[in-house]
Amino acid sequence: MANNVNYLRLSITDRCNLRCFYCIPGGKWEKLPATEILRYEEMLHLARVAVAQGLRKIRVTGGEPLVRRGVVDFIHGLHQVPGLQEVCLTTNGVLLGDLAPALYAAGLRHLNLSLDTMKRARYRELTGSDNFQEVRASLEKAASLGFSPIKINCVVLKDLNDGELWDFVRLARERPFQVRFIEFMPAVDRGKWTRHFLPMAEVRRRLAGLGPGEPVAPAADAGPARIFRFPGFLGELGFISTISEHHCHACNRLRLTAAGYLRPCLFGAEALDLKGPLRRGATDAALGEIFQEARRRKVAVRDDFLPGWSMVSIGG
Ligand code: SAM
Repeated sequence: MANNVNYLRLSITDRCNLRCFYCIPGGKWEKLPATEILRYEEMLHLARVAVAQGLRKIRVTGGEPLVRRGVVDFIHGLHQVPGLQEVCLTTNGVLLGDLAPALYAAGLRHLNLSLDTMKRARYRELTGSDNFQEVRASLEKAASLGFSPIKINCVVLKDLNDGELWDFVRLARERPFQVRFIEFMPAVDRGKWTRHFLPMAEVRRRLAGLGPGEPVAPAADAGPARIFRFPGFLGELGFISTISEHHCHACNRLRLTAAGYLRPCLFGAEALDLKGPLRRGATDAALGEIFQEARRRKVAVRDDFLPGWSMVSIGG
């Protein structure tokens, strides 16, 4: 288990400019005071420690990472961390159009964009904001600048966006994007989850007309997505069944929250404090030991889910 942990998801803020119902409980959450949030230089320090402990890939996430001031310089700084092989960004795309050229100049190439619908009215319904056009424009801008790979994350929600599966397939056919269908995870409230959860097997069944596709061999640091190529497609399709199939055995990631806690598992309550020791002047060796402890605490199989968590506070 411990050996394959090579990927850190680093949440740089718990703030977000959207209010996606499945991410933010009741549209509100308790925001951390600024002093509780790691400063950029602290995050860069921890990134160096993480790399010394064998982590090779860092995904910058949030909240919405692009709402934090100074994010471009921070991403440039991450690219200077010796031994770090890959820096990626996950964003909702609302601010990406404006920031994309500077992010590209800062060295960023790997983008994940969250987009659950191709319809403006539904976008407003799901996110509580009318930014659909900006997000589509951001996607085009990022593609034209040469960001690659661009992955599009679509959370499939029964009776909300599951009628759009083929529209997302068309996007992967016509554009060189990896479109990934993701199972709705039971954050926020169980009633909504039960109502809108659609298992990935059902998504695959509805898309059976595509044929079997050619599986793409996962990269060494790849997550649990199953990726396929289809004849005539410029892009690829991915299926992520976090809930209906356990990926714990293959889970290669740790999460560092904006508050400086290291979480071995998204669904578990365990969180190891890194900020406290860092601010008290712990040595890099002592901080490195906390990373090792988080690795050891990863479980082989998790069959319980911590209730009441939300991605916006943990970091998606
Ligand atoms: N704001 C950025 C974004 O939108 O990509 C980064 C953070 S967001 C929490 C990261 C990802 O988590 C998004 O793709 C979002 O759709 C996903 N997410 C949040 N809550 C989820 C849930 N309950 N089930 C599945 N995915 C979820």
